[in-house]
Formats: sequence, structure tokens, C-alpha cells
Amino acid sequence: MENTCKITDLICLPDTKLPRVVVVGGGFAGLALVEGLKKRNVQVVLIDKNNFHQFQPLFYQVATSALEPDSIVFPIRKQISGYKNVQFRLAEVVEIEPSRNLLFTNKGKLTYDYLILATGTTTNFFGLENVEKNSLGMKDIRDSLNIRHMMLQNLEQAAITCDDEERDALTNFVIVGGGPAGVEMAGALAEFCRYILPKDYPEYPSSIMKIYLVEAMDELLGAMSDKASEKTLEYLKNLDVEVLLNEAVSDYDGKVVQTKSGKMLLARNLVWTAGVKGQFPKGISKESIVKGNRLKTNGYLQVDGHKNIYAIGDIAALISEATPKGHPQVAQTAIQQGKYLAEMLTDLIDDKPSKQFKYKDKGSLATVGKRRAVADLGKLKFGGYFAWLLWSVVHLMSISGFRNKLLVGFNWVISYFTYEKSNRVIIRNFKQSSHIDSPSDEQFGTLEKSENMQKTKIDA
Ligand SMILES: Cc1cc2nc3c(=O)[nH]c(=O)nc-3n(C[C@H](O)[C@H](O)[C@H](O)COP(=O)(O)OP(=O)(O)OC[C@H]3O[C@@H](n4cnc5c(N)ncnc54)[C@H](O)[C@@H]3O)c2cc1C
Repeated sequence: MENTCKITDLICLPDTKLPRVVVVGGGFAGLALVEGLKKRNVQVVLIDKNNFHQFQPLFYQVATSALEPDSIVFPIRKQISGYKNVQFRLAEVVEIEPSRNLLFTNKGKLTYDYLILATGTTTNFFGLENVEKNSLGMKDIRDSLNIRHMMLQNLEQAAITCDDEERDALTNFVIVGGGPAGVEMAGALAEFCRYILPKDYPEYPSSIMKIYLVEAMDELLGAMSDKASEKTLEYLKNLDVEVLLNEAVSDYDGKVVQTKSGKMLLARNLVWTAGVKGQFPKGISKESIVKGNRLKTNGYLQVDGHKNIYAIGDIAALISEATPKGHPQVAQTAIQQGKYLAEMLTDLIDDKPSKQFKYKDKGSLATVGKRRAVADLGKLKFGGYFAWLLWSVVHLMSISGFRNKLLVGFNWVISYFTYEKSNRVIIRNFKQSSHIDSPSDEQFGTLEKSENMQKTKIDA
């Protein structure tokens, strides 16, 4: 196959006369788009900084040793195998130059006819530097593994130390953020404490592990119904989770969590799920960046002020009268926007008119440990065992790949009957200050360096 690799820093791609659609991000949105474009008359280039897709809704299960990481991540190349018009390149996009339809990555540059940003979000610590330095977010599979290692190492250290206060700190957990991620993490930890701790750590009582869930608003699961919020609170209380509502964390030194109202919580384990912010490469016009660092789009998901740049998924904020804050940042929005844009782009290229994006709300589910979940399905709002079954089926069906479905399903069945979490092994040493958040830190060198390098090359 002929290629265009004549300039050394150009990313190598097959030569084509077809319009080139570059998709940045192989998350729910990017993959749905690529799938929709697989038989269309376009060349699709999918770029991601990881060579795998991550199933974020189950991160908390990896963090609490219930699942192995490779059962909830899926190789992108396997996902797109057989898509003849799709190319994958492992690279981190650092800058866009819209006037020249150019994209700079840490591996080289490439041109596009249509650019789609599906880069998702990253943890938002809202400027709390100490909290960011001393705690862990849960926005990447590496974060989940770090949480697991932090927890297991701290539990081991608790058995070693003779200092009572330090032992308390090592075994206590603070989870910040009462959305689905925080609630699910708190529920899973509480079950770990109830069913695993007494077996694995007979040297201390299970009451030694205190779990706090801190939420700044006056209810949990604010995006769901009042019924779901109330039921969730009840479930967590039954699992001995101490829920602190109307409390915002203001500082954390690695041992003591401070809240705005002056509360002090002793804990060496802090997981931050209280917010996300959009992440995207440099070069997008400032006017199109809105609250939450999202990109403002019109009804066709076209980024404001850019002719041929589109945004989908968590990063996109389609602001309209009906959606003044944009659509909810959930997997369904991302998938529906990816599918829509595949149709819309095909129509655009074929010079056909298309309709604007319309979101179909399929409802919300959240689980609080085993056999307990809440569901809002239109007017139907319920909780309990059936909601938990529904949650399990929906999540199992949504995981990419037959092998992963099988692995997750198998683990769940075993754990259903035994409450066993078999993956509680420490396979690498976790150090709070040196944890790796993204491959760019280690594998690729820093963004700043690679960006300058690319810039120098193209200017020369
Ligand atoms: C802990 C947790 C639990 C959740 N639970 C649920 C749930 O139960 N139900 C639900 O519907 N939603 C849930 N969500 C939200 C859901 O996961 C997101 O809405 C969804 O992942 C958004 O999809 P996306 O494609 O926009 O972004 P993502 O899935 O985040 O994908 C973005 C992709 O872009 C890549 N990328 C980013 N920047 C670059 C760059 N510069 N260069 C190259 N590649 C880049 C990333 O590697 C990633 O693959 C949860 C999220 C979290 C964090």
C-alpha cells in the first residue's frame, strides 16, 4: 500500500482521495462514531493515547479487588479489526492548528478534513492542590489500580504499626463526591470491610475500617430522583458508611481531611470522585470553551467558531434552550452522539440535509453493593434486588468483547455466592507522590517537550 511518509515527522497513513475524518479518543463516543463510519466513503483515523478502550463504570470494582483490569479494558485494534477504512494510531494529540487543518501529536503530525474531538474528561480537583497531591482520582484504569494498591498496602501497614492513631488513619477511607462513582465505591468498600476484612485481617476488628462519603450538596445522586437519593442513603447507612451531606472538603495533608465547616477526618486513603473537567488539545478558540472546560457545540455537534471540528461525548456541551447545561456526561450521551455524527458526516459529505442531534434518555441506574441498586426509568423509579439485577445485566451487555463479558460475569457469579474478591494482591509498590496518571508521563515524555518538538519541526 502506498503511503505518504515522505516527511519524517508526518504520521504514516495510507494515501487516499477520500475525505479524512480524524477521531481523537477511543472512548464510548469515539468508538461509536468509528463503528458508524466503518463502511462509508471516508478514511477514518482514530487516535488515542492508550491502545485500549476503558469501561469506566466498573473502575470501582478494579479498585476494590473485585475485577482484574484487563476484564474492563479492551484493545482498540481488536475492536476495529475488519474495519477496512479505519486506521488506528497510538499517540497523544497536543495541539490543533485549525487554519491549516493540522493536528500535532507527540509522535508526529497529520492533516484532516474533518476533526472530531472525543477526548472525554479528567478529574477536577477544583484548584485544591494539597488534595490533588495527596489523594487519588478515579478516571483511568491506572487510578483504579493505584487505589487498590494504596488500600492493600495501607491495610498491611496497619497490621505492622504499633501506633493506634496511625492504624486508624491507615484503615479509614474518605470518598469525596456523592455521584454514582462515589456511591458505588463506598458500597463496594463497605462490603470489603464487612466480608473480607474479618477473614484476611483477623488481627483487627472490622469496625476499625471507617468509611466516610462526603458530598457538598444536600443529597446523594443529585442527577437522579429524590426516591433514588433517599434509598441510596438508606442502603449506605445500613452498610455502616458515614455519609456527610452539605460538607465540602477543603484541605488534605495525606492524613487529615479538613472540611469547610471545620470537621477533621483521620484517613490515609482519600478517593476523589467529586468532579470532572473536559480535556482537549490546545488550539480551540477560547470563545467555544464553556463551564466544566467543555466545548460548546451547535445542534450538529459542530464546535462553535470552527467549520470542520466537532465534539462528542463528555467533552461536548450542546447548549440549547432544552439543555442549558449541555447533556449529561454519561456513556449513553457519548454513544448516541457518536452514532449521530456518523450519519450526519455521511450526509454532509454526500451533500444531503440532516437533522439536529436529539438525546434519548434511557434512564439511570446506580448500585450500592450487592443486591441493592436504584433505578430511574422514565416515570418508573424503584430500588432493591430487581434494580440490582437490571444494573448487572445492562453493565454486562455494555462491556466490549465476549471474553471480557465472560470474565466479568464469572467473577460476579462467584462473588454473588461467596462474597469473595479474589484479586487482592499487591503486584507493585504504590507511592502516593509518584503515581503515574497517564502514559504521557512515562512512556512519551512530557507534553510540553513533545509539543515544542513538533512545532519546531513544522516551522522549519
Ligand atoms: C468512575 C466512573 C464511573 C462512571 N459510571 C458511569 C455509569 O455507571 N454510567 C454511565 O453512563 N456513565 C458512567 N460514567 C461516565 C462515562 O464513563 C463517560 O460519560 C464516558 O466514558 C464518556 O465517553 P467519552 O467517549 O466522551 O470519553 P472517554 O470514555 O473518557 O474516552 C476518552 C478517550 O480519549 C482519549 N484521549 C483523551 N485525550 C487524548 C489526547 N489528547 N490524545 C489522544 N487520546 C486522548 C482517552 O485515552 C480515552 O480513550 C462513569 C465515569 C467514571 C469516571
